[in-house]
Amino acid sequence: MAVSLAEMGLSRLKGVGPRAAEKLERLGLSTVEDVLFHLPFRYEDRTRITPIGALRPEQGVVIEGEILAADVVFGKRRSLLCKVADGTGLVSLRFYHFSAAQKNNLEKGRPIRVYGEPRPGAAGLEFYHPEYQLGPDLPPLERALTPVYPTTEGVSQRQLRNLAGQALDILRQHLPEELIPPDLLDQRHLPSLANALEMLHHPGPDDPVDLLLDGNHPAVKRLVMEEMVAHQLGMLSKRAGQKTLAAPVLDGDRLLRKLLLSLPFALTGAQNRVIDEIGADLRRDHPMLRLLQGDVGSGKTLVAAAAALTAIESGYQVALMAPTELLAEQHRANFEHWLAPLGIPVHWLAGSLGQKARRENLAALADGSASMVVGTHALFQDAVAFQRLGLIIIDEQHRFGVQQRLALREKGRFGNQVPHQLTLTATPIPRTLAMSVYGDLDTSVIDEMPPGRKPIQTLVLPVSRRDDVIARIRSACLEGAQAYWVCTLIEESDELQAQAAEAAFEALREALPELNVELVHGRLKAKDKAQRMARFAAGEAHLLVATTVIEVGVDVPNATLMVMENAERLGLAQLHQLRGRVGRGGGQSYCLLLYQIPLSQTAKRRLAVMRETTDGFVIAEEDLKLRGPGEWLGTRQTGELAFRIADLVRDEALMEPARELAEILLERHPGRVERLLRRWLNGGEDYADI
Ligand code: ADP
Ligand code: MG
Repeated sequence: MAVSLAEMGLSRLKGVGPRAAEKLERLGLSTVEDVLFHLPFRYEDRTRITPIGALRPEQGVVIEGEILAADVVFGKRRSLLCKVADGTGLVSLRFYHFSAAQKNNLEKGRPIRVYGEPRPGAAGLEFYHPEYQLGPDLPPLERALTPVYPTTEGVSQRQLRNLAGQALDILRQHLPEELIPPDLLDQRHLPSLANALEMLHHPGPDDPVDLLLDGNHPAVKRLVMEEMVAHQLGMLSKRAGQKTLAAPVLDGDRLLRKLLLSLPFALTGAQNRVIDEIGADLRRDHPMLRLLQGDVGSGKTLVAAAAALTAIESGYQVALMAPTELLAEQHRANFEHWLAPLGIPVHWLAGSLGQKARRENLAALADGSASMVVGTHALFQDAVAFQRLGLIIIDEQHRFGVQQRLALREKGRFGNQVPHQLTLTATPIPRTLAMSVYGDLDTSVIDEMPPGRKPIQTLVLPVSRRDDVIARIRSACLEGAQAYWVCTLIEESDELQAQAAEAAFEALREALPELNVELVHGRLKAKDKAQRMARFAAGEAHLLVATTVIEVGVDVPNATLMVMENAERLGLAQLHQLRGRVGRGGGQSYCLLLYQIPLSQTAKRRLAVMRETTDGFVIAEEDLKLRGPGEWLGTRQTGELAFRIADLVRDEALMEPARELAEILLERHPGRVERLLRRWLNGGEDYADI
């Protein structure tokens, strides 16, 4: 084969000039292969003619008849009304935008074929702005169903159909490379790539369109399978690359045992288990890449501290990185509380640090006198160097990009040796997603809460109940509890969020004169924020009014009441994170979700999920269903998740078979792997490397 479809630019196709090419590029279409992989999301049946007498409202149909009249009529709006009859009945076409030429063309007696959906209108059933063709000679009817493609402004369906038609013609002459060997396809009852594409773009009138649209047709499965296989291969080869790296052997539990003796509680079974899993990884001379999942409040920080102590005991440095200063500060406080009595100072590196302290800390990291550092993005800046970084702990990895994580790892590189990496996440990753994004990344799950925790009770209330809610805060706080009031705003701006929180703060202070009310938001200086948080943590304030800055990490066990304003604006993951700020002690906690009407269907569903469950895994699965995987993982990860055809929710069942097939290909057909990666992943650079 001379040129592959992936190498054929769109200029091969008729009707694609530079301007059209630019617009098509926006749809992700720049080669003939791209056009073929751009699949319809529905089909219209233009293969048969419906008698006008049998028309029903809102059904897409083709009719054919003779024009009886076309007149400009003056109703509420001026329109062109064209009457068409076919002997079984009469129907009208209505155009609000029309030209004189158009009107003249719709001559009485002329045959016309119309495509569209009729709706009830002033003149009975009417087609509004339908597509139509005029006689005398009408072309033959379509023989296949007509595809409707996802499109963008400036690219018409007609254009896309035409391109897909041309691309299919080319496909018939230059069969695409079959990257999955035919025997493996046959075993799985999957068609060839060419047949699958032909079916998807031009199904026959009797083909099962429902199956094509819901992903249950072998033609769809064929493409989904190949794409998933490519993703799995991307991950497998990435992992193979990892295995060639070395890492320091970290071993020892002397410090950990000392720490455990000093704690007022025993580890949960789950904490013990995951500490062992991590310990086994650290003793190997290959870098650990482990994801630690555990619901909010399950005690991940302590597990992270256990890993840190093992590294420190082995003479290595540990860096803990968190996405926000507030969260990093919480970790610093926890680590200091646990490590200082063991004689291990905890160093700090964040944007807010003064010049002098920063210089000192940088020097201590570089000469190795600092063995534990906690910080934010400041940790991977150029000026930061470590003497011998052995373990990186990253909290809430969704917020760091691949490059940032790699930058930190590079700081611990000596030749072929890199640090171990432990990633903590409180947002559980649904299994399908974990498999498709992270492949066989090692995962540890804390699936048990510390004893004595009572599930948080959640109530969903309209904002009109605000006064009752305030009364409830008053009585709870006067009985010794503490409460959060979270203000949400869709706007990303810290400034606007801060203003909203200020306003709520003033109003609540006025409504609750008998309580001490504190305020934190993103616009405060780090020091002020920390001071106010500390006052709340020490019980000096009853009520903390906050923006979503308190989403992660804040740990005040005595706080048992949380109110979220405009809860309908937040996604499930965020609601769950925020709610996790209560229910951290032995008392019964409550979460009150205040909403503003009207509620969208999705918002309703989200609030219902929150009311029904506190199980982070259930919430994550629901979230994935409601939002789709791309959004779920956040924009930073979408590159890694850019499935063109597969839909992780719809195609979940294909994940395991795809994984199997990927392994077979790797073993028996290694020559095809690179081509698969090139076809689906553009070579697969930056593939999920947690
Ligand atoms: P996560 O980071 O997983 O949300 P944390 O590590 O912040 O949870 O732990 C939540 C709270 O539970 C902290 O106050 C912590 O000290 C406490 N904690 C951790 N492990 C246990 C345990 N085994 N028993 C009782 N309390 C625990
Ligand atoms: Mg935590």
